[in-house]
Amino acid sequence: MTHHKRTEKALVITIDGPGGAGKSTVSRRIAERLSYTCLDTGALYRALAYKVLQRGIPSGDVTLLADLCAETDISFEMQGGAMTLFVDGEDVTGKIRTEEVGACASAISAVPVVRAALLSLQREAARRGGIVAEGRDVGTVVFPDADVKFYLDASPGTRAVRRHRELLVRGMTADPAQIEKNLAERDRQDSKRDIAPLKPPEGSIIIDTTGMDIDMVVHEMMKVIRRSMASERNQ
Ligand code: C5P
Repeated sequence: MTHHKRTEKALVITIDGPGGAGKSTVSRRIAERLSYTCLDTGALYRALAYKVLQRGIPSGDVTLLADLCAETDISFEMQGGAMTLFVDGEDVTGKIRTEEVGACASAISAVPVVRAALLSLQREAARRGGIVAEGRDVGTVVFPDADVKFYLDASPGTRAVRRHRELLVRGMTADPAQIEKNLAERDRQDSKRDIAPLKPPEGSIIIDTTGMDIDMVVHEMMKVIRRSMASERNQ
């Protein structure tokens, strides 16, 4: 449900970048400011990964993954900007936030059948516009015609510290050095894959968030968005 003013065109805004760059926090803030929906596309890959781990399917077994995609029902509900995620009716929102699920999500997301299975779900969510979508390929593949595209990045150390803090907030413990290693491994996997590799979309605004706090990042991004809204109005 979106509540943006009817006079404004409801934009599609994309935010891509590596883990720990600040995408999920800023996309939630921006969606709140605009009364838009916030779509965390990584959560969809994590949801599927959750089931892959539960079934004990090897992340490289394309045939079994294809069968799994065909028989799995992933859905989500948006409430007050927060996404509740279901796998075959089971609420997995909290269960998908572990490093284990993240690593499996990264592995299976390199498999074309997995990406294809999640594509229509993502596009359907943006059918009416008024969305902030964040992920690894939302500006390049999922929404190539998005109105405003961002690419957020930060130094590996900064990203590891943020991920660590995120896990602590969720009540999980983790070794910061191990997190930095995991992030580096996922960066490698996500940017080297043949299909939808992580890279700045053409025409995207690139922001290095190292040393910036969230308010500063949101402020910079809102300036760009307002400018785009103003130019839409003048057309
Ligand atoms: O952002 P998050 O850590 O939740 O994403 C988990 C994994 O899902 C990423 O490492 C990436 O491999 C995959 N992903 C993707 N495309 C997206 C979003 C996430 O391949 N649009």
